[in-house]
Formats: sequence, structure tokens, C-alpha cells
Amino acid sequence: MEKTPIAINGALKGVARHTVRLVSHFLFPPACAACGRLSAQANALCPQCWTGVRFIERPYCEVLGTPFSHDLGDGILSADAIANPPPFDRLRAAVAYSGPARSIVQNLKYRDRLELATMMAGWMMRAAGDAVRDADFIIPVPLHRSRFFVRQFNQSAELARALSQLSGTPMAVHELIRKRRTSQQVGLGLRQREENVRGAFALSDEGRMRFAGKKLVLVDDVYTTGATVSACTRALRRAKPQDISVVTFAMALPETIS
Ligand SMILES: [Zn+2]
Repeated sequence: MEKTPIAINGALKGVARHTVRLVSHFLFPPACAACGRLSAQANALCPQCWTGVRFIERPYCEVLGTPFSHDLGDGILSADAIANPPPFDRLRAAVAYSGPARSIVQNLKYRDRLELATMMAGWMMRAAGDAVRDADFIIPVPLHRSRFFVRQFNQSAELARALSQLSGTPMAVHELIRKRRTSQQVGLGLRQREENVRGAFALSDEGRMRFAGKKLVLVDDVYTTGATVSACTRALRRAKPQDISVVTFAMALPETIS
């Protein structure tokens, strides 16, 4: 008999959950995360968009995470990683920045589809779960305050928050600072992008203490030329961390850069 209240409680919770799902289904009918067409499931892709997503999988360069067309064996680096070693230890991205993946990024960034962050972070965990779980802190690429007020949220911070929830690794948002407002990187070449973000990021004194000797994961939505995450990494290096992984949702691959 003692079990009855628990059973009722559980049943009520079930009813409540069902009601919430029903109401949210009515208010926000499930739509494809990329094209927006109505679909059977929320925060998923329709079959057509799903086939258009290119997941980045091994074999890839162990440093830059760029896929190889042939398996050359373990620990092989790309010519680019050897010629221009990045300041971070490794980069991992879930998908190529093209087709439906590009729409998903735009939907998160400009259409306030915040619920997409959880789905995107799930794909990022698939690509970099070990690095994220092993890390001491997850750090989003910061927005300048003025930009934050205009757009109301930082998509990198939303992805970092979702990654933190999925992995249990704490997020650190206040230590890495964007000192000055930079122009949008879109439409700039590599050299211009580097110039644009040079000296734009700084680490607080607290960050220098917190991150010393730690394993860090830096999060951004898209990796294009790497100018932004490289500038952030240089600022983070001042703390002398043990290791810095960059984890992004998408990566522009040579054939998909526009
Ligand atoms: Zn679709």
C-alpha cells in the first residue's frame, strides 16, 4: 500500500510531462532544424536534409581535424598542420560547413532557435566527446558587449552551455574577454581576418589563475580560417594551460569555403 502515493505521483508526473509536450507541440510544431519543413520530430532533420549533412569522421589530421580521402594510418598530420602549426593542440568539428549544416548555424545565430544548441552539441560530443569530458573548463569565444546587446545572445556560449550539460564539464564564461569590437569576419580574407582580431582578446587575472595547468576546450560555431580561435588561444596560453582543444559545430573545408 505504501507504493500507492509514489505510483500516483509518478502517474501525475507522466500526465504533466505529456501535457507539456502536447502544449509545446501545439505552440512550436516540430520542424526540420535546417529547412524548417514540418516534421515528425523536434530538433531533428528531415530525411532530405539528413542526407545532405557531411559528418567529419576519421581518417583525419590529428591536429586540424580535416578529413583525409585515404586512411594513411594513425597520428598522421596534414601538410597544412605541418607547414602552419596552429597555436591550439587540436581542432575537432562535427560537420562540414555546407548545405543543411550552414542552415542550422544560421537558424541558431539569427533566428533564435536556441533549442537547436542541444542537438548541435550532441553532434559535437560525437566528434570530440573524449576531449570535452577530459577537459577542466569549456570556454566559449566571447562576443563584445555591444554586439551581445544587439543580438541578445552569443551562439558560442549557447553551444558551450549545451556541451557543459551533456558532458558535466564546467563552463567558464567570464575569464576570456573580447577587449574591442571587431568587424564581422564574413567576407574577409585570411590576412584581413587575422588583422581584424589581432589583440582583440584578453585573459582576466582570475583566468590566468584558474586555467594554469588545466585542459581547456574552446568552443565556436564555425571554423573558417581559424583567425578567431587562434587569437583566443593565444590569449588563453598566457595562463600556461596544459592543453587546448578547439571544438566547433562546423568546419569550412576547402571545397565548401565560400
Ligand atoms: Zn529539412
